[in-house]
Amino acid sequence: MRKLFLLLLIMTFIISILAPASFAAETDQEKIYKARMDLYSKMESLTLIPWYYYAAIDQYERSIRRVRNDIPKEEGLIGIYFKPEQWSGALNPNPDDTSPFSIGIFGGIGKDGNGDGIADLKNDEDVLYTFASHLLNYGTDEENIKIALWDYYQRDRSVELIMGKVKIYKTFGTIALDKHAFPVPLRFNYSYKNTWGDARGWGGRRIHEGTDIFAGYSTPVRATGYGIVEIKGWNKYGGWRIGIRDINNTYHYFAHLNGFAKDLKVGQVVEPGMLIGGVGSSGYGPPGTSGKFPPHLHYGMYKDNGHTEWSFDPYPHLKQWERAERQAKK
Ligand SMILES: [Zn+2]
Repeated sequence: MRKLFLLLLIMTFIISILAPASFAAETDQEKIYKARMDLYSKMESLTLIPWYYYAAIDQYERSIRRVRNDIPKEEGLIGIYFKPEQWSGALNPNPDDTSPFSIGIFGGIGKDGNGDGIADLKNDEDVLYTFASHLLNYGTDEENIKIALWDYYQRDRSVELIMGKVKIYKTFGTIALDKHAFPVPLRFNYSYKNTWGDARGWGGRRIHEGTDIFAGYSTPVRATGYGIVEIKGWNKYGGWRIGIRDINNTYHYFAHLNGFAKDLKVGQVVEPGMLIGGVGSSGYGPPGTSGKFPPHLHYGMYKDNGHTEWSFDPYPHLKQWERAERQAKK
């Protein structure tokens, strides 16, 4: 009996040593997501606006901010950016004003969200609460939130992009959506080289805006990340093609397909690895044209900064996703 007790004691001791080690496996990124989610949830209980609206607005602003040079990079957990004069009020002699009272007098939008009596542009809770207050001026339902967003951004596209993210977060119930998949299952025969920026190829625009993955007809083509189907149909150069907007505002373009996955619709939420179509050689002619070049998937990636969209090289990402999948299989 005593032996058993001793054994239990030793086991408990071992477990207590091992447990923190496994908790330590929680990455910095996971900690950030958790802390961010806490902020969104807190705001939801305060305002009755569901957390995924806050997550979507925050993520939209963060992704834009990361590709713009005219606004400072984010420092805290929340990516929403207010200009100092917007925060303190255009006529406020003190652009760094933190007094909710005088900010209010000068028509600034800055608010105190954490109850410390200070409206601090650099405090996550104050920033999120300030945006929440703007939304609350309109209402807590989707239609009113959309109007609030339009009034704030004055751009249809921004509202669409944010609402797309709302749908994605709502579907998966989490903000940890970093997983990716290689567009073609690794067990199929395929080959690709770094051809981005070459003279116009099949499906490019001015230059070759993508990577061509050569594979046989009907090789499965899969979504590479969490996102929303933005475009599906025919394009003179791209043939049958699909455009997916991911959670980071990156647009993924799949061209020259020989068909689409059954039931795939514009506006649909997709996840990495989900079948969206098959490799083909469609394009360079009226709808249905095919066979003018060898079958391949043209894969392009585009960034959006809130004003314009530009192509960047998908090759390093493809390499990385391919490697990650290979390692996960081992
Ligand atoms: Zn191509």
